[in-house]
Amino acid sequence: MIRRALRLGLGPGLLGRGLGAHREGSTLGKAEGSGGYRGSGVFPISSDVTFRTRGPGPRWEDSGSLGAGDWHGKVSEIKKKIQSVLPGGAWSPLCDTSHLPPEHSDVVIVGGGVLGLSVAYWLKRLEKRQGAIRVLVVERDHTYSQASTVLSVGGIRQQFSLPENIQLSLFSVEFLRNINEYLAVVDDPPLDLQFNPSGYLFLASEEGATIMENNVKVQRQQGAKVCLMSPEQLRKKFPWMNTEGVALASYGFVSSSNHMETAIGEKVTLKRIHEVHVKVDHSQEYQPVECSIVVNAAGAWSGRIAELAGIGKGPSGTLQGTKLPVEPRKRYVYLWHCPQGPGLEAPLVADPSGAYFRREGLSNNYLGGCSPAEEEEPDPGNLEVDHDFFQEKVWPHLAQRVPAFETLKVRRAWAGYYDYNTFDQNGVVGPHPLVVNMYFATGFSGHGLQQAPAVGRAVAEVMLEGHFQTINLSPFLFSRFYLGEKAQEHCII
Ligand SMILES: Cc1cc2nc3c(=O)[nH]c(=O)nc-3n(C[C@H](O)[C@H](O)[C@H](O)COP(=O)(O)OP(=O)(O)OC[C@H]3O[C@@H](n4cnc5c(N)ncnc54)[C@H](O)[C@@H]3O)c2cc1C
Repeated sequence: MIRRALRLGLGPGLLGRGLGAHREGSTLGKAEGSGGYRGSGVFPISSDVTFRTRGPGPRWEDSGSLGAGDWHGKVSEIKKKIQSVLPGGAWSPLCDTSHLPPEHSDVVIVGGGVLGLSVAYWLKRLEKRQGAIRVLVVERDHTYSQASTVLSVGGIRQQFSLPENIQLSLFSVEFLRNINEYLAVVDDPPLDLQFNPSGYLFLASEEGATIMENNVKVQRQQGAKVCLMSPEQLRKKFPWMNTEGVALASYGFVSSSNHMETAIGEKVTLKRIHEVHVKVDHSQEYQPVECSIVVNAAGAWSGRIAELAGIGKGPSGTLQGTKLPVEPRKRYVYLWHCPQGPGLEAPLVADPSGAYFRREGLSNNYLGGCSPAEEEEPDPGNLEVDHDFFQEKVWPHLAQRVPAFETLKVRRAWAGYYDYNTFDQNGVVGPHPLVVNMYFATGFSGHGLQQAPAVGRAVAEVMLEGHFQTINLSPFLFSRFYLGEKAQEHCII
């Protein structure tokens, strides 16, 4: 019965419980009356969030009508005025709480990486009335030292096997290409993303050629500009490449497209989070923030956040016992220099071996790596780099494909975490079927950066309208983990 409800529920019924649906609810009513906090902002904390305890916090930045500096200035100005009319010298009856997070927020987003910020952006952009929705982004590490967003390779492609992934990338590319239409700030110089659309080149061996052909059909149906290339065409276009072992290649260009689709379904409501408790630096205590919706955008750590909300804590085989299958998986990125390497026309090349590379800048530098075999996954306990991995697993493939790379020199290397979905290596988007006000924007397993603009929009649409509008991401709902229905993406790097 519950399986049937979940299947039927992949649309406005099940999803129709977003902010629009909660407008009459008590949490929002209370929050709106509380004052003190408007608009969205980033609240940097250097510790965890839970959904239970409480305490004080660090500086809170309000990005609404006042800048942070203005805000602090105004608070101390008012404090001074009140103190000057009160007897008692230095004694202050007022406690300055501007360093604390707000007590109420309509939406609390856990994780201030690209996905969390994208959800925040779209919520504010799509809200019906300016200032209607209060959004709090909680980020535990304002240096982003381990965030996948800053440690990624920054590749953008349309070559996926699932239509939803292709649509997500097409929408996001459009966003990035026209970033100043979305994110420009009056009187500020235009943003320069250093967006360099040089395309992706997937190489397939004899074995993978048929799959590649099928994938390209799907990609074209979705509006992606992808062409198939024979080894001979490859040699002509990219004379620096050795095409031995390559039967077929798919070459994708960056273009634009937009699809409209809406899903239908039923409503299931069982449990909700009322407060997020923000633990702050140098304190064992937590500050409660009352909210209507919590977005789990904690990337590689989102499995842990789901656990904190009780997700997966039930008998195995039940919906209650179904975990969010997202875990940190360590991936290395190497940066090398090679004076004789491929020129500016070089796309991001994905070799059949799994090794990949792309040019970085103008000075014959290249970035690349390779995902390890499942049985050789490195310990995710730290972000140390394994330099032997490059020597043994990456370089031989690179040098075989591009003979000039025989003489490359590695200059730098780092490691980051894939927000790896062990179920089907794909994103998890939308609400949880039982913890009804926890929404996900996570699990993109190595392609989350490029899809973040579209994912943020999709999550905001579900919250505001109760259903997906621009791209139907029903196959990416959490319920698939319980139903055993994989949204298997075959083009994973
Ligand atoms: C080596 C590497 C290469 C990649 N290459 C590409 C690529 O070429 N193209 C592509 O599209 N994608 C790529 N990716 C994947 C992409 O980087 C991620 O999918 C994407 O950045 C995920 O964004 P996020 O916001 O979910 O995660 P993050 O950027 O990791 O942000 C999550 C944030 O949550 C915070 N957080 C965690 N727990 C808590 C808590 N309890 N309280 C508060 N905050 C918390 C963390 O501090 C973190 O800042 C790559 C990833 C890696 C590691």
